[in-house]
Amino acid sequence: MAPSQTAPGRVRGQGQWKLGHREPLNPNERFKRDDDPLNVRARIENIYARRGFGSIDPQDLRGRMRWWGLYTQRRPGIDGGRTAALEPEELEDEYFMMRVRLDGGAVSAAQLRALGEVSQDYARDTADVTDRENIQYHWIRIEDVPAIWDKLEGLGMRTTEACGDCPRVVLGSPVAGVAAAERIDPTPAVDEIVERYIGSPEFSNLPRKYKTAISWQQDIAHEINDIAFVGVEHPEHGPGFDLWVGGGLSTNPRLAVRLGAWVPLDEVPEVWAGVTTVFRDYGYRRLRHRARLKFLIADWGPEEFRRVLEEEYLGRALVDGPAPETPERPVDHVGVFEQKDGRHYVGVAPPSGRVSGGTLAAIADAAERAGSDRIRFTPYQKIVVLDVAGDRLDRLIEDLNRLGLPAEPSTWRRSTMACTGIEFCKLAIVETKERAIRLVEDLEKRLADTVPDVPISLHLNGCPNACARTQVADIGLKGQVVTDGDGNQVEGFQVHLGGGLGLDAGFGRKLRGLKVTSAELGDYVERVVRNFAEQRTDDERFAQ
Ligand code: SF4
Repeated sequence: MAPSQTAPGRVRGQGQWKLGHREPLNPNERFKRDDDPLNVRARIENIYARRGFGSIDPQDLRGRMRWWGLYTQRRPGIDGGRTAALEPEELEDEYFMMRVRLDGGAVSAAQLRALGEVSQDYARDTADVTDRENIQYHWIRIEDVPAIWDKLEGLGMRTTEACGDCPRVVLGSPVAGVAAAERIDPTPAVDEIVERYIGSPEFSNLPRKYKTAISWQQDIAHEINDIAFVGVEHPEHGPGFDLWVGGGLSTNPRLAVRLGAWVPLDEVPEVWAGVTTVFRDYGYRRLRHRARLKFLIADWGPEEFRRVLEEEYLGRALVDGPAPETPERPVDHVGVFEQKDGRHYVGVAPPSGRVSGGTLAAIADAAERAGSDRIRFTPYQKIVVLDVAGDRLDRLIEDLNRLGLPAEPSTWRRSTMACTGIEFCKLAIVETKERAIRLVEDLEKRLADTVPDVPISLHLNGCPNACARTQVADIGLKGQVVTDGDGNQVEGFQVHLGGGLGLDAGFGRKLRGLKVTSAELGDYVERVVRNFAEQRTDDERFAQ
């Protein structure tokens, strides 16, 4: 049965191209139809960078520039309570946030040094490691964008499709190619997808953002990506990848589902393109908040999606395959580990992903002194230095320690993440990054006598969009305005408890009425952790 006949009502009339709905149904669809967003690059280089911020066409400014990793940042001094009431032009500053896509999270020492220099030269020394293995800058002037591109692209880095309704950065394992337990290194598939499809008009107009993750190990949060390939051993065909689709958080969270298909390494790019094309052609384009692939999967179900993929796009059946074994928790690679070649990798935890240009350049120097030319960013806002010989380990660990990047961080520093928040994000209601850093320091003191022997993840988000994964944290915090004990409206958080990925993958319970003010946050987390530690039975995990 064709999809057009499957789920009438909801499936029909949602702006799916394949069903003949080519007329744009909202302003975003209109600007994408009117001019491929990738074309804005020429205008940035030839007009906007020369004439300044005021010359930028509003549709480019708030729409197409995202396809080149550029968003305007929040004007300083606007409190979160006013976010929803203001027009975009009232909220936005004349500076940009710029996101550099680092597919697979992979950089060389020279690339890392250049990322640091861009930060120091053009971004007031800002640099955040995002939970999608990107580097995010702030305070970028439109006049400087062409020079930044020159520098980054000269060393093989890009901002192409780092944001926008297109294939975003491809997440890969930070330890791809070196992990002792890895049976196949998926890097060739990541590279081929990027080479063939990123910056291509074929996929530069998807219904919504599209997130990919590919890894042998379960270290890439595959459950919350639109498409993911996870390593699995097939009893007849050997090592390959299990195909997952339709994950995503935000305000309607859904975990990805398996299609039950085993994909060999050399077919990953073709299958990726097939799934992406189904999304492009059948995805819902009427309402942006219902446009992610997860809504199509929810309506069709995995069997129907696989049938359409096979019959209409691949022209062949996929091989049925088993599910991969699920680890108790996803792996974050923080610490010192032996590689399959006998050398080591060292993972460190910048506080809530915040570093600086100077720190990035200093990590590059330290890695080179340790004989390494490969550094990786992780989907947990961490940094990993690969290929370190045993006799260089101590020196590297010392160097990283001096940069404030311990390889043995406290459990709180290791498992706390924070989104951009009100400092720069136009959608934010509360401050997150600096608050998370202070909270970690506070918890290290408060809970020095009660260090849980299981990690407890703490994710601070500035609004319901859940960029730092509110719903899949042990303690997920969603920023909002709350009422304090004196009746004042203040910054605070709705609490979600017991979410996670891995064996207990699921969304935290949103406890009705459980809201804390930001001032109460340390007291609240301490209370929750002490209760857990006191009442915990043997081997019980937080999410159980
Ligand atoms: Fe901005 Fe909200 Fe995302 Fe945080 S969760 S970065 S505040 S949109």
